[in-house]
Amino acid sequence: MTIDPIKLDRLAEVAVRTGVNLGEGQELVITAPIEALPLVRRIVVHAYKAGASLVTPLFNDGEITKARYEHGADASFDAAPAWLFEGMGKAFSDGAARMAITGDDPMLLAEVDPKLVARVGKATSIAAKPAMTPIVGFAVNWNIIAYPTMDWAAQVFPDLPVEEAQGKLMDAIYDASRIGGDDPVQNWADHTAELKKRVKWLNDQGFDALQYTGPGTDLRLGLAEGHIWKGGASPALNGIVCQPNIPTEEVFTCPHAYKVDGTVTATKPLAHQGSVIEDISVRFEAGKIVDATASKGQEQLRALLKTDDGASRIGEVALVPHSSPISQSGVLFYNTLFDENASCHIALGQCYADTIEGGSELSPEELQQKGGNQSIIHVDWMMGSDAVDIDGITLTGEVVPVMRGGEWAF
Ligand code: ZN
Ligand code: ZN
Repeated sequence: MTIDPIKLDRLAEVAVRTGVNLGEGQELVITAPIEALPLVRRIVVHAYKAGASLVTPLFNDGEITKARYEHGADASFDAAPAWLFEGMGKAFSDGAARMAITGDDPMLLAEVDPKLVARVGKATSIAAKPAMTPIVGFAVNWNIIAYPTMDWAAQVFPDLPVEEAQGKLMDAIYDASRIGGDDPVQNWADHTAELKKRVKWLNDQGFDALQYTGPGTDLRLGLAEGHIWKGGASPALNGIVCQPNIPTEEVFTCPHAYKVDGTVTATKPLAHQGSVIEDISVRFEAGKIVDATASKGQEQLRALLKTDDGASRIGEVALVPHSSPISQSGVLFYNTLFDENASCHIALGQCYADTIEGGSELSPEELQQKGGNQSIIHVDWMMGSDAVDIDGITLTGEVVPVMRGGEWAF
């Protein structure tokens, strides 16, 4: 069994039509691992069929990434192609849509000095700002999907021959992405309607904070002033309704960067920058992580938290029921796009401006005053399970059940 070409083509079509929802005459910029070429080719076909004016793919390669760590001079680890990100930023401000293909080997850099990886990560995040700002601010329609590369598949299904693992990972991606059945576009419309019901209820409650209780977790998480819950397809500022993540099972909003207190323990490993960090446990005081441990990848975790001031505070809180299809599949993907959609999660770093009322018009300082965190990183990590209860706390101190045993309580 290898990758089913029909499934690959349908994934490409759904990504173009439902994911990014490419506009007539719009440009599309794609970034992808070079191994994802078969998927990118199908995306390009569907993009031109949908009326794209120009599709520009940009490829990366794991071996090339590793060669830098093996042979690069010290100064190489603070270098980043600012010119490339400025060009991408210009493309977005001129109206281009963005598509990213994920699927790199989660363990690509596991043997590399974490300090070097952190330096490269920081230099890249700073240089990437012109390209990331329109995405984080939802100025343009964008979408992320996944391609089952061989090394990734081998990590997810270590007991299978690699070709079989790749086919199986493709099937898992396909199922998680709700593409099966006769009408994936309708599937997605129904799924979005379901997410919007949860969004509406949460917005109607106007909670001041959420209280999480579970094994190793006792957390009071304040919500930002004027926070808005979001989920499913939404219009970007250019007016195009897109589905940024495929799959997506989350409803999410902006936590208050200075009002988070207590402890929280991760429920899944976190694949980050080519390493896997396991059993994360952190303690917050007034929104800041003051203590952080991990059974594996502790150095990577500490380097991540030190990236900048906002890296040890959170910018996103998301709710995902334990019964989500990804969670039910029992597959641990070692890829945040999937694992975060199998579990309640929080994200270290940058907030999404559009999860605060009128946030897209606010300066970074104004966002921060409302509790919106600022950082060059945004890293989601999973802390939900069937053993976690969540209550909403209203401004008057009333306690309202939100989740019980990992499932919606309303
Ligand atoms: Zn999320
Ligand atoms: Zn996130």
